Amino acid sequence: MSDGHHDDGHGHGPNDHQPIGHHDEDTAAWERRSAAVQTLLVEQGLFTADDVRAQIEDWESRTPALGARLVARAWVDPGFMERLLADARGAVRELLEIDAGVPELVVLENTPAVHHVVVCTLCSCYPRAILGAPPAWYKGLTYRARAIADPRGVLGEFGLELPPDVEVRVVDSTADMRYLVLPERPAGTDSLREDELAELVTRDSMIGVARARQPSLA
Ligand code: FE
Repeated sequence: MSDGHHDDGHGHGPNDHQPIGHHDEDTAAWERRSAAVQTLLVEQGLFTADDVRAQIEDWESRTPALGARLVARAWVDPGFMERLLADARGAVRELLEIDAGVPELVVLENTPAVHHVVVCTLCSCYPRAILGAPPAWYKGLTYRARAIADPRGVLGEFGLELPPDVEVRVVDSTADMRYLVLPERPAGTDSLREDELAELVTRDSMIGVARARQPSLA
């Protein structure tokens, strides 16, 4: 995109970059432009309409279950945790056999001392390859502005009250840098299998606005 800030293409439209108060006519104009560009590229033989359909299908198949598998494996396998934190792309390739889809993916470990929260203040950059499409609130102006200005207030609204001695670190995603939060493993989960642990890992816990679920609530 011409503003030099763009997503990895996973359904991230130019509408996300529009200022407050944009109108439906603008959306329609972007859709017409997008359709025209696609028609041109197909005519030029760069890809087929079927390629486009297959790519959209692939994007739509991505869900937070992929991220949950990464987290659960990290919880049970310290070696994998180390690789995930040091080289997230490599760890994604190793476990999920997919490409992380962005130049840089960084996994941030939440601990009893430090809690990470992810936002994209500019638009809606998000690790779509491993979490699927972001929730509507993640793209909303309220979250984008307040996550930086008042992170504890925002977390409180999500039902997460952190003790005052926990450091809250808000990280701002960009087109080139995406973040995934590795939530803390809940207490009382020692006997759970890896697939049972993955069930506890919610989308919101990987954005950092929630903890992983307690097993009794799973
Ligand atoms: Fe963005």
